[in-house]
Amino acid sequence: MNSLVLDPTHLEPPVHHHRLLRQPEAFHLHVDEKGIAWLTFDSPESQANVFNEATLRELDDHLDAVELDPSIHALVIRSAKEKIFIAGADLKAVRSLPPAEVDGLIRLGQAVFSRLASLPVPTLAAIHGACAGGGTELTLACDARIASDDNVTRIGLPETQLGLIPAWGGCTRLPRLIGLRSALDMILSGKLLSAKDALKRGLIAKVVPKDRLEAEAGHIVLSLTKSRPHRRFWDTLWPISSIIGWQTRRLLLAKTRGLYAAPLKALETVLTALRLNLETALELERTTMLSLAQSEATVRLIDLFFRKEAASKSSASSPHQISRVAVIGAGVMGSGIAQWLVSRGIHVLMCDVKPEAIAAGLARVNERLSEAVKRRLMTKQQAREAKDRLAVTAERVPLTSYHLVIEAATEDIGLKKKIFADIAPRVSEDTLLATNTSALGIREIATAVPMPDRVIGLHFFNPVHRMPLVEIIAHRETSDIAIGAAVAFSRAIGKTPVVVKDSPGFVVNRILTPYLMEAVKLHAQGHPAAVIDEAMLDFGMPMGPLRLLDEIGLDVAAHVASTLHLDASLLTPMIGKGHLGVKTGRGFYDHSPGIKHPRTSWAHVPWLQDQLADLMSDEAKKVLREDIASAAEIDLAMVLGTGYPPFRGGPLSHARVFR
Ligand code: NAD
Repeated sequence: MNSLVLDPTHLEPPVHHHRLLRQPEAFHLHVDEKGIAWLTFDSPESQANVFNEATLRELDDHLDAVELDPSIHALVIRSAKEKIFIAGADLKAVRSLPPAEVDGLIRLGQAVFSRLASLPVPTLAAIHGACAGGGTELTLACDARIASDDNVTRIGLPETQLGLIPAWGGCTRLPRLIGLRSALDMILSGKLLSAKDALKRGLIAKVVPKDRLEAEAGHIVLSLTKSRPHRRFWDTLWPISSIIGWQTRRLLLAKTRGLYAAPLKALETVLTALRLNLETALELERTTMLSLAQSEATVRLIDLFFRKEAASKSSASSPHQISRVAVIGAGVMGSGIAQWLVSRGIHVLMCDVKPEAIAAGLARVNERLSEAVKRRLMTKQQAREAKDRLAVTAERVPLTSYHLVIEAATEDIGLKKKIFADIAPRVSEDTLLATNTSALGIREIATAVPMPDRVIGLHFFNPVHRMPLVEIIAHRETSDIAIGAAVAFSRAIGKTPVVVKDSPGFVVNRILTPYLMEAVKLHAQGHPAAVIDEAMLDFGMPMGPLRLLDEIGLDVAAHVASTLHLDASLLTPMIGKGHLGVKTGRGFYDHSPGIKHPRTSWAHVPWLQDQLADLMSDEAKKVLREDIASAAEIDLAMVLGTGYPPFRGGPLSHARVFR
C-alpha cells in the first residue's frame, strides 16, 4: 500500500488540490496477457516527461495499482516520447517553490522511488531517449535497465552542473550499482552517457535496437529476480574508499579551485552514504540538496539554464528552411563554421581566393571530423556523409542555389565591403547575407549592397565546435524576416542565439576587450603575466586574460581594440618583434614546443581580480544603458561566449545590477 512518509504540514494541502486538478494523466498503465504491467510516461502537451509533485503522485498511485493486482507479475516503465525518456525533475519547482515545498518534493521523490524499489514484482526500465537526473534515479530504483542504441538515448546525472546533487537516491544507489569510482565520475562530471558507455559501466544490462526494445523488455523482465543492490566489497573497505575520495577531491579542487560547492558536496555525500543504511543515506542526500538549493550560486546556475533554454527554443520561425550555405573564407573561422554545418546536415560551399587556404581549411575540417569520430560524437559513416556535403572553390561561381552566405574573410572593412558588393549580384532574391565580423559595423558593410535589409551579423566564436553562442546582429535596416531566419537557423544547428544591436564589438567583444587591455596595462606596470592570469583563474574564468590574448593573437586583438577606439599601443612593441602569441610561438608566454607552464605559486593579489572583474561589469552596464541587449542576454552572452564563471551569473549579476 501507499508507504509514503510525508510531512503533512508541507504537502497535504497542495496534494489535495493537485489530485482534484490532475487532468489529463501523464502515465498510462496497461497489463498484458503475460501479467506484465506496462507503465508508459507520456506527459500531455509536452515533448518532455518531467517529475513534479503531480507526476510523482500519479506514479505512486500506479504503484498502488501494481501492488494490489495479483495478476501482475512484472513491471516495465517506458516513455512514449520520441526523444526523451524522462528529463528529470521539474527545475521550475526547485527555482520557484519556497524551501519547505522543495523539501517536500525531495521527500516525495525519495519515497516514491523507494517504494518502486521495494515492489514485490520484478521491475525494469526500458530507456529510449534522454534519461537525466530524476529520470536516471527512477531507473536506479528498478531491478534492471535496458536501453535503445539510438543516438537520442543518453543517460546520466547532470545535477552538479546546476549546483545541485542527485537527491532522489542517485548519490546512494549509483555507487552500489556500478562501484564508487565510476559513480563519482558520472555524478561529478554530470555527463550523459551513450547507451554503449552505460552498458560498459554496468549501468544498464543490454543495448538493443529501438524496434526491439519492448520485445526484449518483456522477455527480460520475466526472468528477473528481485535483488537489492549491494555495496561492492572493495568500496566498503575504508582505506580504498578514502583513497578514492582523497584523489577525487584533489582533482576536483585543481579543476574548480573550490569555486563550485555542488560537486564537492556530492563527493562528500556519496562517500558518506556508502557507509550508511539506505534510509539514513537518503536523509543525508535530502539535507545536502536543501542547503545547496538555497544558495546564490545555485539560483544563478538554474536561472542561466532557463535563459539558455528560452534562447535556444523560443518560437521565432522562418518562412524558409536554410539547408545550403556558402561560406566565404576558408581560414580558422570559415573552416570551423563549414565543419559545424556539414556535421548538422547542411550542404556547404567553402570559398577562398587562395587555393592553399582552401587546402588548409579542408585539412582542418577533416581533422575535426576524425576527432569527432574518435570521441564517439559521430560514426565513421556520419563523418563520411558530412564530408560529402562539403564542396570548395577558388572561383567566382554563381551562388543562387544557396539560402545563406556567411562571410568569414579577413577582418578588414574595405575587404568585407568589396566581398559583399561582389557576391550581391550572384545570389538569389531571398538569400540572406551574413558576416562573421568580430567587431566591425554591420550597417557599414550593408552599404555595399542594394539589399541592406537582408544583411545581418552572425558572429560565431572560436573554436566553433565548442562555443555554444552565436551573436546575431541586426542593423537598423535588417528586416524582421532576416532576423527570424538567422535565429531559426542558429537554433537548428544547435547554437544558442542572442540578438543584439549593431554597435562596435556587439556584446561579447565590447565587454571583453577593455578587460584584456587592462590586463596588458597591469602587465606593463610590472605585474607578472602569471600573477594576473592566476587572479582571474581564481575568479573562475576558464583562462587568464594574457593567456587568452596569446590564443587570440596580439595583432588580431589590437585590431579589435582599435575598432572599439581603445588604446592598444602597449601591444605595439610585441607585435613589432613578431611576438603575436601561440601562432608565432611567443607572446606573453613562451609557447615553444616542450615548454610547460605549471600553476604558479605567486603571491595572491586580490585587488587585481576586483579591478579586472569590475571592468567587465562596468562595460556591461554601459552596454545595458545603450540598450544593445537586455541584462539577461548580456549575462548569458558573456557566460556562453567567454566562459565567464556561470556560478556568478554574468558580469551584471556579479555587480548586482541584475538579480
Ligand atoms: P583567417 O585569417 O584565418 O582567415 C581568413 C581567410 O579569408 C583567409 O583564408 C583568406 O585567404 C580569406 N580571404 C581573404 N580575402 C578573401 C576574399 N576576397 N574572398 C574569399 N576569401 C578571402 O581569419 P579568421 O580568424 O578565420 O577570421 C575570419 C573572420 O572571422 C574575421 O572577420 C574575424 O574577425 C572573425 N572572427 C574571428 C575569430 C577568431 O577567433 N579567429 C572569432 C570570431 C570571429
